[in-house]
Amino acid sequence: MNREVRVRFAPSPTGPLHIGGVRTALYNYLFARQHGGKMILRIEDTDSQRFVPGAEDYINEALAWIGIKFDEGVREGGPYGSYKQSERRDIYREYVGKLLDAGKAYIAFDTPEELEACRSEIPNFQYDASTRGRMRNSLTLPADEVKRLIDAGEKYVVRFLVEPGRDVEVNDLIRGKVTIKSDILDDKVLYKSADDLPTYHLANIVDDHLMKITHVIRGEEWLPSAPLHVLLYEAFGWSDTQPDFVHLPLLLKPDGKGKLSKRDGDRLGFPVFLLEWKDPATGAISAGYRESGYLPEAVVNFLALLGWNPGDDTEVMSMDELIEKFSFEHCSRSGAKFAYEKGKWFNHTYLQQLPDEQLAELFKPVLIENGINPDNFGDEYITRAVGMVKGRINFVKDLWEQARFFFTAPESYDAKAVKKRWSADTPRIMGELVELLKAQPDFTGSVVEPVVMDWITSNGYHMGNVMNAFRLTVVGECKGPHMFDITELMGKEETVRRILTGVERIHPADEPAV
Ligand code: GLU
Repeated sequence: MNREVRVRFAPSPTGPLHIGGVRTALYNYLFARQHGGKMILRIEDTDSQRFVPGAEDYINEALAWIGIKFDEGVREGGPYGSYKQSERRDIYREYVGKLLDAGKAYIAFDTPEELEACRSEIPNFQYDASTRGRMRNSLTLPADEVKRLIDAGEKYVVRFLVEPGRDVEVNDLIRGKVTIKSDILDDKVLYKSADDLPTYHLANIVDDHLMKITHVIRGEEWLPSAPLHVLLYEAFGWSDTQPDFVHLPLLLKPDGKGKLSKRDGDRLGFPVFLLEWKDPATGAISAGYRESGYLPEAVVNFLALLGWNPGDDTEVMSMDELIEKFSFEHCSRSGAKFAYEKGKWFNHTYLQQLPDEQLAELFKPVLIENGINPDNFGDEYITRAVGMVKGRINFVKDLWEQARFFFTAPESYDAKAVKKRWSADTPRIMGELVELLKAQPDFTGSVVEPVVMDWITSNGYHMGNVMNAFRLTVVGECKGPHMFDITELMGKEETVRRILTGVERIHPADEPAV
């Protein structure tokens, strides 16, 4: 059957979208785009107890940030709305009625206390063919009693009637075909009169059908629900159009031992949410990838490879390339370790691809935070400074550590380097260097460099000691980009000023070896 591919991302707004959910959304998106299909956002908010204010907006904002766009959804609209389950009560009521009328579901009045009593009495109690005959439900009570109880306002649930002795086949595009016995399933609750809302199972199946979903791509934690979903499709007479299942591997802790949790992020210092989240109840703040300085393209690339590979060693892929290459064949069955160090590497890689001008723009707020007015330096200066150090950064904020000396003279000098490179004779040699530099009409690095080299060699000075002493005065430590690139950008005046200040302020504690 050649149906238009239609997939849905169906989060419950119970908090910020976890990184595993983001990966699920991403794989849905890649698959939909690859097939020219539709991507739908459905808000599954039928569990009123777990509703968290702000969660739905958060989901929209977070996915928009990494470039996932929906064709249909609460905001986007579309032909199969509403796309919010709490606004579809009438629809679910109708479909629950259909199952009841067809004898495929029944009404149960058992109170929580009665169910608890069964649990303590019967080992491994579950509500199924072996027990439903002794419970208080429409299968055991006379019809007029059932009606009387309902009219009297007694709370009830509707349960799905699972026939025992059936083989239920779940066909998963990653895991292949799995057959399970219907006997292990219980008569799941589909609807609760108390809040006039369906449960996840009923709403999910009805909506997947009505929204013409062709592929259900979701986390592995939903795999146990799949047999019930197959039976529900069958009970409604929809088996012909049942979507294919794709259950994605779990995201594991970085060491592979167990499921990734929010606490792992706190413990190991990486975000598990795309955007910072402030818990409306406690006010607690959880870190976000965006606020931590990740580029959305890097996050997408990193997430795409957690559970999928392109079949070769290619690692760096844009969204368009991912759309082209994605396939379920190369999705793994086993869990994917959350290698967050790799995430940093991706960010590093994507930062290198940005034009220096853009990196400079991103750096300006960091400069301001550190008390530097970017206007005092100008765009070209900042751009060139950033270009020289960007190879050493994973995040935009790292630029400050690497490039601060371009914007502020050293306040102190690395003591170890001073000990190693600064001798009693150094001030005199630095004095000579100042005179030499002052005399240069052209301060271009490639012009000044051979002049300084000649001066060092013709005087028989120690190249390493002189150059490092020079660097100490300008940078404050013995690292950084090529010395004559630095001085070219800083200019003669500032270079000379720093050498003189260094000579004044550097006093080695001991007499070092020359
Ligand atoms: N509402 C479920 C969730 O929160 C959807 C699971 C599914 O995709 O079927 O993940």
